[in-house]
Amino acid sequence: MLRDEIRRSIEQTGVAEFKSCLFGDFKIGEAEKDGLITSLISGHHVLILGPPGSGKTTLANRIASILKDIEVVEGCPLNCPPQDASCPWCLDKKSRGISLPSSLLKGAERTKRVQGSGGLVKEDLIGDIDVEVALVEGLRSRRAFVPGKLLRANHGVLLIDFIDRVPERVLNSILYPLQGEPITIGPFEQAFPLDILVIGTGQAEMLNDFSLDLADCFDVVRLDYVDKPVYQREIILASVPEMTDNQVALDRVIDIVNRTRKHEEVERGVSTRGMVNYASILCSSGLNEDKRMLRSAALVSLPHRLKIPLEADTPAKREEIIHEIIAEVLDEVGEEEIVTLPKEAIEDLVEELVREDSFRVPLKYGAFDILLRRVKKFPESQFALLYSQVLQRLIELYPERYGGLTPELLKEMEEVRKGDGGQKMLMGKLEADALGETIATLEKKGILEYGKNGWGLSQRGITFLLEGLAPKLFVDKYSYGYGKHSTGKKANIGEGKIVGTRHFHFGDRYRDISLRDTIREAIRNRHAELTREDIKVVTKHIRTKINIVLLVDLSGTMRQLQKLWYAKQSAIALTLAASYYRDHVGIISFSNLAEVVIALSSNIHEITRRTLDLELHENAFTNIGFAIAKACSLLAHYPKGKAKQHIIVVSDGDATAPHPSPEKYALSQAAVASRRSITISSVCIAQQSSNPDLMRKIAKIGKGRTYLVGAEELPSALLEEALSAHAT
Ligand SMILES: [Zn+2]
Repeated sequence: MLRDEIRRSIEQTGVAEFKSCLFGDFKIGEAEKDGLITSLISGHHVLILGPPGSGKTTLANRIASILKDIEVVEGCPLNCPPQDASCPWCLDKKSRGISLPSSLLKGAERTKRVQGSGGLVKEDLIGDIDVEVALVEGLRSRRAFVPGKLLRANHGVLLIDFIDRVPERVLNSILYPLQGEPITIGPFEQAFPLDILVIGTGQAEMLNDFSLDLADCFDVVRLDYVDKPVYQREIILASVPEMTDNQVALDRVIDIVNRTRKHEEVERGVSTRGMVNYASILCSSGLNEDKRMLRSAALVSLPHRLKIPLEADTPAKREEIIHEIIAEVLDEVGEEEIVTLPKEAIEDLVEELVREDSFRVPLKYGAFDILLRRVKKFPESQFALLYSQVLQRLIELYPERYGGLTPELLKEMEEVRKGDGGQKMLMGKLEADALGETIATLEKKGILEYGKNGWGLSQRGITFLLEGLAPKLFVDKYSYGYGKHSTGKKANIGEGKIVGTRHFHFGDRYRDISLRDTIREAIRNRHAELTREDIKVVTKHIRTKINIVLLVDLSGTMRQLQKLWYAKQSAIALTLAASYYRDHVGIISFSNLAEVVIALSSNIHEITRRTLDLELHENAFTNIGFAIAKACSLLAHYPKGKAKQHIIVVSDGDATAPHPSPEKYALSQAAVASRRSITISSVCIAQQSSNPDLMRKIAKIGKGRTYLVGAEELPSALLEEALSAHAT
């Protein structure tokens, strides 16, 4: 057995020696090394997971290289040992009286490699019928079956690179042999055992998509980018020895690379491979002490290696980040910030600033005295936490400015609420300064800006908001291919799933022709040659574009609880979802009348900005009918083409305008829309004054769906709607 062979080999060389042989200068922790060796000794298959460029394949090759030369039966596809030639091919030869000479199989040849891809089929791994031989010798002949990579790797290693790209059904077909069960193959009656070590490499996220059965077969080794400068130096110098003479540049390269990994807008920074690449480009330019070269080499080798969340990945964003980092490293930025903000804190803070009206409104209008009161009223809020951090730092940095106040003194004063006039004045100054500095910090971070609508989120702030919202909305709900690697489940967007086959029509695309179904059809038609009527094409779900108009109720009753925030969040969620389908979204707010907030657009940032600016209309009526009419005229402005037109009404109150029959008016407008083949769905926020009946009738006339939700379920209802709109 392979397992015994590895164990013997470790025993012979000694664990320490074996380890250094296997891992060499590989920079992974001792615990991981021991874990991997234990897996090998126990004969478990191994998954090596990590981001691109972290050395997965290198490590996999090293494991494969521990195999020694062995004696095998010459020409046996399953590498039978001469003393136990028991595979179907050897048995076949034996039965025909053919002798089985032995030959030497080199250790290096005991590893078979497979590149994972979506095009890989079961036959590549297990084997396939050789048609020519089968025609002569019959399907049942041993020789008519050509074993695949899995079988050929017997008594050795099967290395599957990018195992995460292999379709699940293909992996399932090798599940039994992976579990150590004998394998059964079409033409042979008898099952036979395989003795194989499978090593797969892939990205860490793949485990989310892996079935439990499969995951069960593997032990996992995780690799990450080397982030210790000591090791990074060694790695760079090993590949780019010229760098030895320029320690300053070497340190800067490492610093720049490590900063890309910590940057708050980057999901995954530059890899180890990217780092080496950067260093060698810098050296080949021959001017590596030059700051200008440091920058231009970085711009050539780094931006495309950054992984940026989808909603933040605007044109030139990557270059911008690299510029920013290089400026930091070259010390070209001004004074240091008073407090540091980790990414999670920024995301929470940004959401709070747009969700909580107690902060959002005074901030928007620059009412800082009110804002200060709110900070004290809600000391647990993110904004107040940042404020108190800034306040602490201020008295640490400038004790003389605040009359020698220390954190201890401050705490004492808070507790007893004492203090004479002078101290009170100093306190007031400190608090005002702290608030000003807090806002300045957020401005410097590029999160807040002062615009024509007062203080609000900047472009970057909106990106943080979207980033914070997207996972909450998408995780475990639907797979949009979001946050998964490119081969994830993305396939069911875009082209659409294959749903069946039909006969070829003139004008069909050649790539939709299914060869297998065509041949089957020719056989069924008993044609000796293919004719036009044999040709079959696959049919797919067609993903037509949809123009969606969202109607958001801003009448007085939306003031309750956080309904307005949920409505805003929903609009943003819908836009995010729609953008994955390349749909266009427009938003109309309504109360007595209706107003176009943003016309049809696919610009997530712009829609988000406008949505965040929405304010309630106090004491206003609810005129659903007028809103629907407005949506129809907005849609009429856009050439329909093949796009479907869809309206989603989000409302909590019953229709109260126009006088005297608001409901009738709403229904008649829905009917007008329906006649123009515009579909309508309704989302009814259930509460005392809601009228689900009317909402249901509107959706029925509009041939859409109705959702009855509490305010907090709003976003998910709209996500569902974005999906179902495509299914119909
Ligand atoms: Zn054999």
